[in-house]
Amino acid sequence: MLFMILTRHSSVTITYLMNPIITDPTSLFRPGSRLGQVLPTYEYRPQQEEMASHVWHALTTGSNLAIEAGTGIGKSLAYLVPAVTWVIKTRKRVAVSTYTRLLQSQLINQDIPLVRKLIPDLPKVAVAYGQENYLCRFRLRSRLARGLFDTRQEAATASRLLDWAETTTQGILLNYPHPLPAKLWHRICRDPTTCRRNDCPYFSDCFYYRARRNWEKSAMLIVNHSLFFAGLAAETELLPKMDAVIFDEANRLEDACVRHFGIRVSQRRLSQILDYICPVAGRGLIHALAHQAGIVENIEKEVGFCRNELLNFFQETESLLGPDAIRLRLKQPLQAVPVSALNRLSASLNKTARDADDEHLASELKGTARKLEDTANSLTEFMDLDTENAVQWVERTGANNINLISAPLDIAHKLKELVYPGFTSTIMTSATLTVADEFGFISSRLGLDQFKTLQLDSPFDHGHNSLLFVANKIPPPNHPDFNQAGAKLIQRILKASHGRALVLFTSYDMMNRVRNLIPQHSYTHLYQGELPVAQLLQQFRNDTHSVLFATQSFWQGIDVPGESLTCLIICRLPFEVPDDPRLTAIAEQLRKQRIDPFNTYQVPTAVLRFRQGFGRLIRTKKDRGVVCVLDRRILDRGYGNSFLKSLPKELPLTTSFNQVVRFLRKVDNPDI
Ligand code: SF4
Repeated sequence: MLFMILTRHSSVTITYLMNPIITDPTSLFRPGSRLGQVLPTYEYRPQQEEMASHVWHALTTGSNLAIEAGTGIGKSLAYLVPAVTWVIKTRKRVAVSTYTRLLQSQLINQDIPLVRKLIPDLPKVAVAYGQENYLCRFRLRSRLARGLFDTRQEAATASRLLDWAETTTQGILLNYPHPLPAKLWHRICRDPTTCRRNDCPYFSDCFYYRARRNWEKSAMLIVNHSLFFAGLAAETELLPKMDAVIFDEANRLEDACVRHFGIRVSQRRLSQILDYICPVAGRGLIHALAHQAGIVENIEKEVGFCRNELLNFFQETESLLGPDAIRLRLKQPLQAVPVSALNRLSASLNKTARDADDEHLASELKGTARKLEDTANSLTEFMDLDTENAVQWVERTGANNINLISAPLDIAHKLKELVYPGFTSTIMTSATLTVADEFGFISSRLGLDQFKTLQLDSPFDHGHNSLLFVANKIPPPNHPDFNQAGAKLIQRILKASHGRALVLFTSYDMMNRVRNLIPQHSYTHLYQGELPVAQLLQQFRNDTHSVLFATQSFWQGIDVPGESLTCLIICRLPFEVPDDPRLTAIAEQLRKQRIDPFNTYQVPTAVLRFRQGFGRLIRTKKDRGVVCVLDRRILDRGYGNSFLKSLPKELPLTTSFNQVVRFLRKVDNPDI
């Protein structure tokens, strides 16, 4: 029998259609259960049942839990099913937070429909993206009406967007079916500094506010880590109140937290703000004031002054780096920081906004003034150089761009103070949380001392389906001959694997040096940075024998099941670069406490990243392949054991290249 409950929670109304039959969600994972009927690829996985049981227990007892769920367990369902059962029973609200939007959309588009088949009376589940992902009808229409686009092509694209706005229900960038320049989107997306809220003529129809009303009515909200933290910090409630939170991709929580609580002032971003009003070429906001020559002249003068001050400041800052350095840790405050120039321009724009009789123009001017003010405040905060709790540095990224960055060192206490006490249960999960089977490292980084921990192995048959090859006959990576020897070996491996390989580097520099030593013969070579990530991955999947050379983001989160990724080559153990300012500052702190930073921080950080890289190889039960590690330190050095002990126990290890060749032959001809 179904019945409906209306409940008030956190001053909102959520509608629950409650099915009283499900009392133990764990039972849904057992053989012969309903999951087998609704999921064609269902197979019983005891680890999945165990995970679901622990998630259910944590939610119902109000406790905290960290679960490492090896690849292939089916962890999304193992937390979603208990979580929705819990919200049905308790009439509370749960957040599921992921690091990537990719996983957010996978959860809402693939997993939740499946859960709905299992539990037909599922209460509302919504996905929430950051506000800049929603189209702002007011900005789009206002810019079109005033001809505020730089080129005819831009204006034509904006008109197409207007048509799309009439048909789309959500107005989310992710759903727009055509390529869209980022610069254009940023001018027409929801921007909190320009939004007119209740005064907006499109308020009742606004995509963003409609989404927010939807979030309020939802019992489960799928967010991402960065929105989650923004929601915590927002003065007005950005997200509805949640009772419990499940962090998937919890291994990335520290990154998200550091970004959120840190400061970043970017030269490029500041130039974009100034260009938005008064560009060097093209039409800025100022174009809408063309009929008021005096005002235009004044704004041009103020923007010009600010631009000069910024240019001088960033040139001065860049000179500290010299011609070659990429980043420099700051121990002394920078000189001539242009705070007053930013505030002066901000005041001038606010004054013009007050006098403007055009409401679009007024809100855009005020919004820009607010951004300049916020940047001035960030600069002031940055100059405090809080070296106890954070580290500050300048870095060069590409031509004409200097970033000023401040990053907090200790995230654990922030999470313990600001996150965990706000929820009855906090659940963390990821395929990689342990180092050599221990939770100690992640626990110290994320402050998990009040968490129960559980490690569940991957159900994949690594003993039979994969092989680990360590190249112990080439020099170690710090040897001058390494690149040459590594490139030769990569060619031999690619010949044996017939392409079908992902080659992972630890830096673009290393990738570029090695790729130049590898002639492109029979197989297509793809390089990170030469195409957008999604396109690159699509080509890599479609062209089975292609070889993808990549670094950084490709160590984690990419999913290429099947033959295209038969061989994974890890060129170097992924230690952070030794001059990374945050790493250096954390190491100093640890040394002060008489703790060895290498073994307690650098090695575990590298092991977790290495495990993420390793996890790219076997994505399904049918996948077979070889991982080639070209860094012999994994065998030669004492710390190598931490890496090896963190891999599946049954994984065979060889140093014989012939065995790799034999293994790959067998992959292609299982009968030999
Ligand atoms: S309410 Fe704000 S975000 Fe929505 S259409 Fe209006 S100005 Fe844009």
